[in-house]
Amino acid sequence: MSDTQYLAAKTIDEAVDAHAKANGSARFLAGGTDLLVQIKSGIRKPNLVIDIKKIVELNSIKEISDNEFMVGASVSGANLNRNPKFAKLWPGVLEAFRLIGSEQIQGRASLGGNLCNGSPAGDSVPALIAAGCKAVIAGPEGRKEIPIENFHLGPGKTILENGQMLVSLKFPKRNKNSSDAYLRMTPRTEMDIAVVGCGVNISMVNGICTNARVSLGAVAPTPLLIKEATEIMVGSSLDEYTLDKVSKICMDACNPINDKRGTIEYRTKVAGVLFKRTTNIAVDRIIGN
Ligand SMILES: Cc1cc2nc3c(=O)[nH]c(=O)nc-3n(C[C@H](O)[C@H](O)[C@H](O)COP(=O)(O)OP(=O)(O)OC[C@H]3O[C@@H](n4cnc5c(N)ncnc54)[C@H](O)[C@@H]3O)c2cc1C
Repeated sequence: MSDTQYLAAKTIDEAVDAHAKANGSARFLAGGTDLLVQIKSGIRKPNLVIDIKKIVELNSIKEISDNEFMVGASVSGANLNRNPKFAKLWPGVLEAFRLIGSEQIQGRASLGGNLCNGSPAGDSVPALIAAGCKAVIAGPEGRKEIPIENFHLGPGKTILENGQMLVSLKFPKRNKNSSDAYLRMTPRTEMDIAVVGCGVNISMVNGICTNARVSLGAVAPTPLLIKEATEIMVGSSLDEYTLDKVSKICMDACNPINDKRGTIEYRTKVAGVLFKRTTNIAVDRIIGN
């Protein structure tokens, strides 16, 4: 890392400008829990590292209107965890984030870094997709918003182009009678990467599902939004028949890798099981709310 230059940007414009001028040889640094490991192991060799932790907007959690949150891209999991209102509205997003590494890692690691790292197994990503979250991106042409399900292009690849930076994550306004959940399957109980991850976000009115979003991670080159699940779940009471049907749809959507941590068959089967378990947790949370 001896030839790598370091810039602690104070504003979004400064960070974006420096990134654009570096022509693809710069990386943004949030918590560094992915990037520094990658630099040390020689996977990434940036000429310039742009520290974005000192930019105020990237480090703030704002309730932009009642029950509608904007979370800065560099906010650490530990800081997000300390926001009681956010925790009540989005328990699934937080439980996904709490699975990342250890307490020490969570003191640094950000939601933005987890998303921008581009791993198909990033734990927060299925929860963000299920939440209906949008990525707010700044670049030379100004700002734009992209649904998280369109953010990844493949393992390690995102839609971010030279000079573009993730500024924040915009959560939709939360309605009453809604909740979410995230579960993952790992061979080890701690400090492991998801073999399958599942995020479910639902709303129920008088026992009928009025909104549902289901997302799977680690079962395809990018995290998936299972659109067909929404069509089947909305209007149902989320009875066993419906859950069986959607479980099968989740399994059919899988296109996983075969490796020592899980075979294609195993990952596919687990995706169907996790969908049901995650949905039941979200339903229980609504009843308990
Ligand atoms: C011991 C250990 C255990 C881990 N366990 C897990 C786990 O269980 N689950 C899991 O999902 N991950 C895990 N991770 C990976 C990592 O901690 C997470 O992905 C974390 O959320 C990354 O956030 P960060 O702020 O540290 O990102 P950084 O390392 O700072 O950045 C990650 C990547 O995103 C880019 N980036 C960061 N912010 C922006 C931005 N605003 N705009 C554009 N690009 C940006 C960086 O350039 C870099 O390429 C683990 C890591 C370690 C070291």
